Amino acid sequence: MKMKVQNFYEPMVMKLEEHDVPQIADNEVLIKVKAVGICGSDISYYYGHSPLDTPDGKGPLYLGHEASGVVAKVGGIAQKLGLFREGDRVAVNPVQQCNACPACMRGEFNICSHSEVIGVSANGCFAEYVKVKYTHVYHIPDEVSFEDAALAEPLACATHSIELLDIRLGQTVVVYGTGGIGLMQAQLAKAAGAGKVVVVARKDYGLNKALECGATHVVNNSDSSSKYYAADVAARIMEINGGDKAPRAIVATSNMEALQDALCVTGGCSTIVFFGLPGPEDKLQVPVLEAIQSERTLKFSWLAPLVWNEVFEVIASGQVNLKPIITQRFTLEDAEKGIVFMKESTEPKIKGVVLFD
Ligand SMILES: [Zn+2]
Ligand SMILES: [Zn+2]
Repeated sequence: MKMKVQNFYEPMVMKLEEHDVPQIADNEVLIKVKAVGICGSDISYYYGHSPLDTPDGKGPLYLGHEASGVVAKVGGIAQKLGLFREGDRVAVNPVQQCNACPACMRGEFNICSHSEVIGVSANGCFAEYVKVKYTHVYHIPDEVSFEDAALAEPLACATHSIELLDIRLGQTVVVYGTGGIGLMQAQLAKAAGAGKVVVVARKDYGLNKALECGATHVVNNSDSSSKYYAADVAARIMEINGGDKAPRAIVATSNMEALQDALCVTGGCSTIVFFGLPGPEDKLQVPVLEAIQSERTLKFSWLAPLVWNEVFEVIASGQVNLKPIITQRFTLEDAEKGIVFMKESTEPKIKGVVLFD
């Protein structure tokens, strides 16, 4: 059987082709893809800003790792265990850890260095069918759409980062960034008990989205013509937080100024979680003595270990609304255009998804 795929060869070369539907092994499940999110990392592979995790760092490879779909074929093991049937609605956890290394033995699956990652080291979901290990295929609740379920992977990453932030009831949480992740974190912070949620970003489009996502306050830190503008973000946040610096901040942008700024808007005994992806050479300047004397906690968040069950629950319960976040929809035929659009277009946009059928 043949399927349509978007095959990524090298920076800025992706071709719509026909290939064989993958053969599955005993420990795999074949999924007919229904929706795939376009991730910042897909964009970065496409433009050659970061290498793939293939042996030579290059294609050909089908990108796309944020996917939902229906089960098309069940391998021997999952069949024996009665885990899946053809037609089941499922989502994909693309980071398939090895389960045998010291990190995996401790349950630290996110730092397993032998992970096979769908769409990064193995063929991904910009294709009509994808094969996934049965251990990384999850049932989705009936009330969760395929489109929303495709965002389960980034939402899982956002959920892990919010768990690290360790919010106490009523606390003010500052979120930097209004990409898909920042808008998810704002909602999750609220769900986790935050009092005020202050979202800081450079563009009003995203800040208005943040208000739609339940932010109580928004601050534009760059455009002086914005009604949300504050020249001194730290002072504005102190004002919002009753004269005190914020106890919690989370940074979902790769902008180094924002990473640095998070240290200024938070105070004693605060916790900051860094999530965005800066460049390999970027360094954070931490005033160490001040950090010690104010007993700060700095954490760094990576991927999404052990949070997938929560993720489907927060979507199904409405604690997280993904509707304001999905702003563009493409077809598989248009996936390459979609990637280019998400990078280059000046039109307002947050997150694009590729929909099938
Ligand atoms: Zn992603
Ligand atoms: Zn491992």
